Amino acid sequence: MTRVFDEDLEFGFGTRAVHAGQRPDEISGAIMPPIYQTSTYVQDGLGRHKGFEYARTRNPTRDALERNIAALEGGLHGIAWASGLAATDAILKLLSAGDHVLCGENVYGGTHRLMVQVFARLGLGFSFVDARDVDLVAAAVTPQTRMIFIETPTNPMMRLADLAAIGELTRTKDLLFVVDNTFATPYMQRPLEYGAALVMHSTTKYLNGHSDMVGGLVVTSDEELAERLHFLQNAAGAIPGPMDCWLALRGTKTLALRMRQHDAAGRKIAAWLEQRPDIERVYYPGLASHEQHELACRQMTGFGGMISIELGSLERARTMVESTRLFSFAESLGGVESLVGHPATMTHATVPREMREAMGLTDGLVRLSVGIEETEDLIADLDQAILAAMR
Ligand SMILES: *Cc1c(COP(=O)(O)O)cnc(C)c1O
Repeated sequence: MTRVFDEDLEFGFGTRAVHAGQRPDEISGAIMPPIYQTSTYVQDGLGRHKGFEYARTRNPTRDALERNIAALEGGLHGIAWASGLAATDAILKLLSAGDHVLCGENVYGGTHRLMVQVFARLGLGFSFVDARDVDLVAAAVTPQTRMIFIETPTNPMMRLADLAAIGELTRTKDLLFVVDNTFATPYMQRPLEYGAALVMHSTTKYLNGHSDMVGGLVVTSDEELAERLHFLQNAAGAIPGPMDCWLALRGTKTLALRMRQHDAAGRKIAAWLEQRPDIERVYYPGLASHEQHELACRQMTGFGGMISIELGSLERARTMVESTRLFSFAESLGGVESLVGHPATMTHATVPREMREAMGLTDGLVRLSVGIEETEDLIADLDQAILAAMR
């Protein structure tokens, strides 16, 4: 099991991002962690080895990534996975048939699909609640409930859940509190500080930040949970390869810098969109008009680059996503390049229509992942695409 280097936790965020979990290579002094592209390790003798036996169980490049992201979240242990959904899959495998999970209703579409189409068949129970209202969450707890799983802000409606309030609820009811922190990243929000037992990430998104790998990570400070997840990592084997770990680790070095730019551009573009009379609604927690802006200010140190806008119809949404030139029309988010997506037919196509529409995820909703290009260029691109859509 990998544990953070304690001395790394003494530094500020940007310093941890660059250095945490990594030490110069002992053989060569290489400043960057080598890509240990190996499946096995030669042992010194019976029961004598250097801590590495087989690469499903442990890999030094993976160790470095696990320590790095754990330190960024302020946790003690990181456990890496082949994708964000593999991380969620492992988290759900902490439970047993008969257990019940209370999940935020606006979670990532793939999370919802994994729960209702895979784990429900294996005997876990699930309910989906509007996690904006902690009273609703508390009322939905049953004697079988073992876990509360939330995303904040949510994808794509940018709804928030009160981390402190849900942390308190899970503490008094002895429930596992899990937060998908993919959107906010530890740069802007650290759920462990509010009582979350587990924080999960799709490292595919902001943590890697360069749209060139798929991966997941879970962070915890709980020794027992870390032990169990490490067991599952080895027992089920949904591990990332060393090359992908190395790419993610190269990404996290610039996380602080990138997030500052995503946040600055996100704020400017959201404000610019909001003053346009032709945009019906702008969903961005950094806007004073966002119904949970005050909570966002309390638990987040920035608002990032994810913005959703309501254009009013499928036809307008289609024209807009097909008219942008800098914003590429693609799934995913969190890279240095700007993307535009249509949640109803892309990320959330597997969520039942009634459930989508009940939370405002209409056919006219378009989601932006604002990259780190020049903000003026991005605004000009959006301007021409919106004008085309409104014609
Ligand atoms: C992408 C994403 C996931 C799933 O991660 P993968 O790496 O694609 O498996 C989970 N949660 C959120 C919020 C995401 O954006």
